[in-house]
Amino acid sequence: MKRIGGYFIKLMIVLGVGVSSAAAAEKTYDIAIIGGRVIDPETGLDAVRNVGVTKGTITIVTTKDITAKTMIDAQGKVVSPGFIDLHAHGQTIPAARMQALDGVTTGLELEAGVLPVSDYYDQMAKEGRPINYGASVNWAYARIAAFLNKKPRHDIDWFFESLKEPVWQEEIATDAQQAEISALVSKGLDEGGLGVGFLLGYAPGTGRKEYYKITDLAAKAGVPTFTHARFLSMLEPESSFEGMAEIVAAAAGTGAQAHIVHMNSISLRDIDTIGEMIATAQKQGVKITTEAYPYGAGSTGIGSAMFRGPKWRERTGGMTAHNFDVGGKRLTEDEFSALQKDHPGTETVIHFLDTTTAEGQAVLDKSVLFPGGVIASDGGGWLVDGKNVSKDTWPIPENAWSHPRSAATYSSFLRHYVRETKTISVLEAIRRVSFGPAQILEDAVPQMKRKGRIQVGADADIVIFDLATVTDRATYEKPARASSGFDYVIVGGVPLVKDGILDTTVLPGQPVRNLQK
Ligand SMILES: [Zn+2]
Repeated sequence: MKRIGGYFIKLMIVLGVGVSSAAAAEKTYDIAIIGGRVIDPETGLDAVRNVGVTKGTITIVTTKDITAKTMIDAQGKVVSPGFIDLHAHGQTIPAARMQALDGVTTGLELEAGVLPVSDYYDQMAKEGRPINYGASVNWAYARIAAFLNKKPRHDIDWFFESLKEPVWQEEIATDAQQAEISALVSKGLDEGGLGVGFLLGYAPGTGRKEYYKITDLAAKAGVPTFTHARFLSMLEPESSFEGMAEIVAAAAGTGAQAHIVHMNSISLRDIDTIGEMIATAQKQGVKITTEAYPYGAGSTGIGSAMFRGPKWRERTGGMTAHNFDVGGKRLTEDEFSALQKDHPGTETVIHFLDTTTAEGQAVLDKSVLFPGGVIASDGGGWLVDGKNVSKDTWPIPENAWSHPRSAATYSSFLRHYVRETKTISVLEAIRRVSFGPAQILEDAVPQMKRKGRIQVGADADIVIFDLATVTDRATYEKPARASSGFDYVIVGGVPLVKDGILDTTVLPGQPVRNLQK
């Protein structure tokens, strides 16, 4: 460092610039974050440092004094790479703002994905986004398009409307339909999709060969797959175990990098056998990665295939209508049947584990803390009276509904696993929310090599929080409560949250897009 500085000063002298002003210029950054506990999971750094940011990039990490136009005192605080959510369904401005207040600087829609891919990126760029955004290619949308002869529209309403049509969920594709699905997925990858998203659990009648062929297509394109496993069941056949084994087999048989989404909800209470199978496959070199969110309840459309059919209750370990809540209220059997029949797209919270019991919490912990795994929210948009909160609405109204994971996955994870139970170290927790997710994508998407790190040359996506106070506030009854304790959330060098207050005048989010070809 000294040597480079020496050359710099000599050059300034040759150019006739005074040494003292050159030295001063060298020390001036756009932002200087002073005296924080800097965590960088890739290098294992966990020490007090000063961090300088210039033009959206981290340009110094040092023990020396630095000065900047904007000085941030981070003493006593953790300075971490911004959190990267691989599973963010709520691709709206209000949903992204809620996530920013939970420490998220990049929110990617990878499980479902989008289609058409270009339309999605065009719309995001036109409207602007508070945090970085991106998406995979939505295989299910390609399937719906091929079966129903519909032009895909990249929004969740289009998907929930399509749940009324069983044919794409239950039938094997003809050769012509398979060709169309493959063509639509390839086109999405050409347009910069980050991988292929498989909502396979929503179309469990899909042919095994179709899943294999599209996984193979992803392998050949050098991008990962993100799969919601085909089955949700403690019972065989067609068990969660079988669905997970299919993902492992497709990865092994094609060489694809396969990511298993929300391991916690799919595994139900069968995590021991499933976890062992996945860990062994990983040891054999099969490229499998996993994610989980720290809640014992999931959320989806009430008419989804996994909650229909003669045996779904037994299969899910004895669930009843009471396991489902809509708008914070548990359902009766009559309400459940009526909603499934008439409004299958109704979003519901499904309590699959009771984490108020030690047994339920222990089952959840095995997924959340699965070796090498990452945290991802599976959060969604915000609804008032069944309608999406509009893009200009802020704050999100108190009566707005979503699963609390949409607001609080990251603070809840830090509060419970790091502060309260001290189950894992800060360094490992930060790996699970920043560097780990970046690593899952970076072979396919080189942009991600600059994320999830507090290192010179990395994107200045940075969060600063107090580990002693950071906390979730959202509950199942009152989900629309933003997390607290994140003092600063900086996206690409722009402070989006300052002193805990969200700045609604800036939209610094940039696309994460796979345009390397
Ligand atoms: Zn899912």
